[in-house]
Amino acid sequence: MYSQDSISGHRRGRPEPTAEMLSGLACLICGTDYRSAPDADVRVVSHRDGKQLVACRGVCARMASGSATGLDETPLPLAERMHRHQADRS
Ligand SMILES: [Zn+2]
Repeated sequence: MYSQDSISGHRRGRPEPTAEMLSGLACLICGTDYRSAPDADVRVVSHRDGKQLVACRGVCARMASGSATGLDETPLPLAERMHRHQADRS
């Protein structure tokens, strides 16, 4: 099944997560960029390197975490995720 291990240890089927996915700016499953979808219902589904990985509530969250609502954790505000994303690149 899909677990945190299957996300970090995957090698086949799914492409590598993009930088945006790893910064919590895009859905880990469908790749929706939340910067252009501010109304999306974002759920935390996993963690990597101390950062939240997020997915859309519903099918995407269920695929990533096994629960349609993801982990019982509040995602950081989009502005904060964008800030961290940019900090990572500098
Ligand atoms: Zn999605």
